[in-house]
Amino acid sequence: MNEITVIGGGLAGVEAAWQAASLGARVRLYEMRPVKRTPAHRTDKLAEIVCSNSLKSDEPGSASHLLKEELRRADSIVMKAAAETRVPAGAALAVDRERFANHITAQIETHPNIEIVREEITSIPPGETSIIATGPLTSDALTFEIMKLTGDDQLYFYDAIAPIIAADSIDQSIAFKAARYGKGGDDYLNCPLNEEAYAQFYEQLTNANSVPLQRFEETRWFEACLPIEELARRGIDTLRYGPMKPVGLVDPRTGREPYAAVQLRQENLMADAYSMVGFQNHLRYGEQARVLQLIPGLEHAEFLQFGQIHRNTYINSPRVLAATMQMREHPNIFFAGQITGVEGYVESVAMGWLAGANAARLLRGEELLIAPPRSAIGALARYVSSAETKNYQPVNITFALLEPLSREQARSVKRKRDRHLLQVRLALEEWDQWMHSVRHDSQQLAVAK
Ligand SMILES: Cc1cc2nc3c(=O)[nH]c(=O)nc-3n(C[C@H](O)[C@H](O)[C@H](O)COP(=O)(O)OP(=O)(O)OC[C@H]3O[C@@H](n4cnc5c(N)ncnc54)[C@H](O)[C@@H]3O)c2cc1C
Repeated sequence: MNEITVIGGGLAGVEAAWQAASLGARVRLYEMRPVKRTPAHRTDKLAEIVCSNSLKSDEPGSASHLLKEELRRADSIVMKAAAETRVPAGAALAVDRERFANHITAQIETHPNIEIVREEITSIPPGETSIIATGPLTSDALTFEIMKLTGDDQLYFYDAIAPIIAADSIDQSIAFKAARYGKGGDDYLNCPLNEEAYAQFYEQLTNANSVPLQRFEETRWFEACLPIEELARRGIDTLRYGPMKPVGLVDPRTGREPYAAVQLRQENLMADAYSMVGFQNHLRYGEQARVLQLIPGLEHAEFLQFGQIHRNTYINSPRVLAATMQMREHPNIFFAGQITGVEGYVESVAMGWLAGANAARLLRGEELLIAPPRSAIGALARYVSSAETKNYQPVNITFALLEPLSREQARSVKRKRDRHLLQVRLALEEWDQWMHSVRHDSQQLAVAK
């Protein structure tokens, strides 16, 4: 069949569909919402952002910026939508989630090569070129099919999401506007705690009731997204060195850094909602309200969304995937997005970009792409296809994944920050050259045909 089936209209699925369709493939994009819901999505829009509205740092010299920049230079539909719907967030790239999803949905709906089908896929279509991009909340029926396909019997672990608060319920005579170290102006609201308030909060948090996890006996949390109550149980100061760290935040009322601080990030352009940065949790809703309202400035907080737990489904990719995002045993089946074991919105988009471009190339009989080794997309593809399979854990893009500088290059710059800037510059140079040759080869092939 001369068509690509993309399963899942989330961040990875829309990027994959868009890239494949832009290369001339006909794409059928299956999205189960609103026919079947997930525990986290709230709308029927494609590319719905389920939790924080931040796509993380866009500061030059950060690994996260490199990843975004590669995608921008590769005509990513998601990065274009992010630029159109951006909201102020200091050095981070944050979006108005509603406008973002509307924008992408409209683009996909009107692409002449894409047909959207609102249906749950429960088995993997045999013999077709397919991209599985069903994300961390893949429906149960399909999860079991994927288990059969990959030979895995355990694809789950747990993550938690952060609460969102109505702006007009935050006491702004206490919460002060500032970004850490003054980076980005007044984009965050910060609730300061003194030692006594912190001790009281800590005591109540560690004794509050959590929602029991019913489905699986063993609770496997992802370390980078631990619920605050789990973090707190590691020691009284753990939060002060984590999501409640006060460094770089000066309370204008005292002229000093507080003992601890809670940061709230603007959620939308209207600035009528703020999310609690790093405050993902799985406390019962009543308990959340009671405990979080102990934070100075949040005494009358109105919660637009409470923190929640959610399942995270991912395959042991290095066992089954090649760096092209194809299954080694079934080269017509691609995986993309969080289900491959990358973590994060932009990381998921990146894997969608690669899978979409390669699925179209497979149909056209062209050589498949391996992203260049220095690039962030190359680093993620390398990770999902060749990381250690024992204890395989989802990752964000970081410098630890990127190809290091040579010894001479590293020696030529002293400061760590300058080394990172150099690494990003070299990676982007390589990326530009590669994109140029990829586009050139595609044009040559199109002419030859
Ligand atoms: C609750 C939650 C909070 C998160 N918070 C953050 C965060 O704050 N920051 C961050 O960077 N990352 C976060 N993530 C992680 C991850 O980056 C996002 O989940 C991201 O959306 C993953 O993109 P994706 O395209 O792989 O999956 P999704 O965006 O979830 O898209 C998958 C799509 O597939 C559909 N689908 C599922 N099963 C089927 C089926 N059988 N048939 C048809 N359609 C199906 C779903 O409805 C969904 O629309 C969070 C994840 C979850 C679940």
